[in-house]
Amino acid sequence: MNRRGFLAASLAAPFIVRAAELLPPAKGRRVVIVGGGWGGLSAARHLRELAPDLEVVLLEKNPAFRSLPMSNKWLAGLMEEKHLIHDYSSAARAFGYTFIQAEVTAIERDQHRVVTAQGTLSYDWLVLAVGIRYHYEAWYGDDRRAIEHTRHNYPCAYIPGNEQQALKAKLDNFKGGDLVMTLPPMPYRCPPSPYERACMIGWLLKSRKIRGKLTILDPNSHILGFNRIFSEHYKDQIVYVPQARIKSVDPFNKTISTDLADFRFDDAILMAPQQAGDLAWQAGLIARDDAGRPTGWADQHPVHLHAREDERIFLVGDLIEKASPLFGYYPKSGQMASRLGRIAAREIAARAKGTAAEKLLPDSACYVYTSLEPAEMTRVDSTYRFRGDGLIVQSVKQHHDPNPAGEDLQWARSMFGELLGFKGYESQ
Ligand SMILES: Cc1cc2nc3c(=O)[nH]c(=O)nc-3n(C[C@H](O)[C@H](O)[C@H](O)COP(=O)(O)OP(=O)(O)OC[C@H]3O[C@@H](n4cnc5c(N)ncnc54)[C@H](O)[C@@H]3O)c2cc1C
Repeated sequence: MNRRGFLAASLAAPFIVRAAELLPPAKGRRVVIVGGGWGGLSAARHLRELAPDLEVVLLEKNPAFRSLPMSNKWLAGLMEEKHLIHDYSSAARAFGYTFIQAEVTAIERDQHRVVTAQGTLSYDWLVLAVGIRYHYEAWYGDDRRAIEHTRHNYPCAYIPGNEQQALKAKLDNFKGGDLVMTLPPMPYRCPPSPYERACMIGWLLKSRKIRGKLTILDPNSHILGFNRIFSEHYKDQIVYVPQARIKSVDPFNKTISTDLADFRFDDAILMAPQQAGDLAWQAGLIARDDAGRPTGWADQHPVHLHAREDERIFLVGDLIEKASPLFGYYPKSGQMASRLGRIAAREIAARAKGTAAEKLLPDSACYVYTSLEPAEMTRVDSTYRFRGDGLIVQSVKQHHDPNPAGEDLQWARSMFGELLGFKGYESQ
């Protein structure tokens, strides 16, 4: 066929290039889970147990699971890195699902498939558990140079990946001067964790006798009595500034302007506001407020957890919108994400059988070191129930432990057992 003939033929019948399929067509029905964090791993494991007839495929961009819980202790040199890292393939073998290391670049909701660089994958149900993204645009608009400079030089390590190593190197090499840590406005991932990190840094400065100060710029009011801890244990190391709303950040000239004052820094840990991860935006699953503006978080049914826009997609973990008008957001914690993953698994298993799932509510527990010498720990437990009118009610209890004895490590190990089939270091 000559060129003109080829063009005419292509206009008559458009030439469609189909991306390769990642896997052969499913024999039965398939659930695709995007994101192998606390929410996605839990959904994968529980789906295999509750609905063994369904094919379950977990897609995760990182080669290994990396825990953010306990990472503050590792940053301070109080825990080995091996306690935070786990293998995805052995989890997939333990529970009998398929793991593929791949970054999902798009969800094609009308085609019921996800797109990756290696190929596409069709689903009957999709669990979206991609966590959060940093909303640097709130500070910099579309100034990509400022965004990339901040990502590269002032990582905060709130997303599993390479940032953890970069932040650890920064702290290990810190020789003195003004270190500034900005906190994000609520809601953000694991609310007590930046304060715990501040205690670890205060302890590092004190125990290494470094002539430096950590200034915490917090747009929120202080929580969990950390203000007292900072002044009692780290008064020469930590300056805590509550209600410091950030107006602008200049990462090149190292200055931060807040409602209260301007601050300059020698080095910094810059935590931008947080939002649902990119894919929730790409898929058009973000909630809107009364004025029609995006809230930043993915719009789930508060009980059944499917996307309000699409009942084939379940939203699990830190990316979700408010759970109840009575208290707002569930705490964005690992245990909460894993409970939500289990609820989504029950919902999908019930739908696959043509029944309705029993209504279940999640819970959350968070262990936070408030001081290292002497060691003090606080556990924050959040539980939920339905009120008579169907709204979800929250109750929060704090337990102060002046003599902790590794309860946080024990909790993490039992969660790694549930999520990853981890049986203990002795048995590896
Ligand atoms: C310092 C710190 C301390 C914490 N301490 C605690 C604690 O003590 N207790 C507690 O319960 N919680 C704690 N948390 C919170 C906990 O880590 C989070 O709540 C939890 O990770 C949320 O799980 P998730 O599944 O929603 O997201 P994540 O765990 O972030 O998992 C999301 C996954 O999706 C993957 N992903 C994203 N986009 C794509 C894509 N396009 N394609 C493929 N994969 C993708 C990511 O790589 C990631 O693995 C802490 C957090 C921090 C930062």
